Amino acid sequence: MIFKKCPYLFALKGYGLFYFLVFILAGCGQGQPVKETRALMDTFCEISCYGGDKDKTVSAICAAFKEMERIEGVFSKFNENSEVSKINALAGLEKVAAGEEVFKLTERAVYYSSISNGAFDITVAPLMEVWGFVRSHKSMPDKEAIENALEGVGYKNIELDPKELSVKFFNKKTKIDFGGIAKGYAVDRARDILAAHGIKNGLINLGGNMFALGYAPGNKKWKIGVEDPINKGKLLHRFELTDMAISTSGNYERFFEIGGKRYSHIINPVTGFPCQGIVSVTVAADSAEQADALSTAIFVMGEKEGLNLAKSIKGIKVLMLKEDGRLILY
Ligand code: ADP
Ligand code: MG
Repeated sequence: MIFKKCPYLFALKGYGLFYFLVFILAGCGQGQPVKETRALMDTFCEISCYGGDKDKTVSAICAAFKEMERIEGVFSKFNENSEVSKINALAGLEKVAAGEEVFKLTERAVYYSSISNGAFDITVAPLMEVWGFVRSHKSMPDKEAIENALEGVGYKNIELDPKELSVKFFNKKTKIDFGGIAKGYAVDRARDILAAHGIKNGLINLGGNMFALGYAPGNKKWKIGVEDPINKGKLLHRFELTDMAISTSGNYERFFEIGGKRYSHIINPVTGFPCQGIVSVTVAADSAEQADALSTAIFVMGEKEGLNLAKSIKGIKVLMLKEDGRLILY
């Protein structure tokens, strides 16, 4: 049984933020992992590492968490002193000097916007606000509020000056939200830190954004099972990964319901409405950032367009569960 071997996965569910989407099917119960879980970026992060010296592994894990906590401080939309909040407060009025990290991630986010035809778009921020996903009062906004927010939405409203590393918004209503990419970025940075500390085998899981480093105990690939959100405890699919990332975007962890209708926190930047038709999209890719951004992008694009995008990118795997129950694996 998966669950008996991994009691900590159940323990985490008790916290009530939202559930993990994935089960680690290999590794638990074998060897002695060094692992730690912390609340991070509005979810939980678990890092487990296998083999090597215990003390060195503990300090590697601590350093990885420290780095992710630093990243949270830079990109948080909940902290008004974060660099991103400061950009949001000012860039609609004037050019704002950005740190290299924020500038580069913004550039890469814009790249994901261009390859997804604007389905992935960090300027959804004003829509996240009117739908109440930023504060706790999730509510059905009226038509005017959505139209008003939509005026600021569109990645082409972002002007980036690579010489000055400055960010400016062409529209006063524009704001940016890294919720669809920052967790993946943080996981990649954690992976780099672990590797720099000599860690060869381990797993990072930040709210369903994972990186599988090296091999599971027994020198086998990491087996990552994606849980069926409807038939809990059953698996939709099992990915076998080594030195690869995996990320799931779903409509069943962060959402609200009005009149029996589910509104997910992934918003279509064209209509201004939460996306419908898809329950979850899982993407396996070389980097967690790519997996994170593409899982969100493909969720918005839907089956036909989303799978066309997937086919145009080398080395990724996609699992899509539709609301009509169909499961598509590409
Ligand atoms: P999770 O945050 O649960 O891991 P995702 O990676 O799919 O899920 O990201 C969803 C988050 O991304 C939202 O909470 C919001 O901050 C942001 N977001 C919502 N819609 C979009 C979109 N169309 N493009 C880019 N980011 C989005
Ligand atoms: Mg994402």
